Amino acid sequence: MLTIKQGDTILVIAGDDRGRTGKVIKVSPSGARVQIEGINIQKKHHRPKKEGEKGQVIEKPGFISVSNVKLICPKCGKPTKASHTRTEGKRKKRVCKKCQAVI
Ligand SMILES: [Zn+2]
Repeated sequence: MLTIKQGDTILVIAGDDRGRTGKVIKVSPSGARVQIEGINIQKKHHRPKKEGEKGQVIEKPGFISVSNVKLICPKCGKPTKASHTRTEGKRKKRVCKKCQAVI
């Protein structure tokens, strides 16, 4: 079940970046992994392609498992587990388990 979406703010609950918060940049197609701004930075060294060009280091956030993050509710500001509820018209809505707000 996909509960994390692009643009969400999350709290990292496991790993080296534990306790940090960030914005979700990308969700993997399966929904199992997410890429978060400033979290799990991978450094990639780029060699100059042409003569006279400088090599550079590109920093890019790596994907982490959604099981290592918790959604922060924009309404109550607390880390929560969002659940999907079915509403009229068969549209699914995410609901914060803490404050019951649709997020
Ligand atoms: Zn809430």
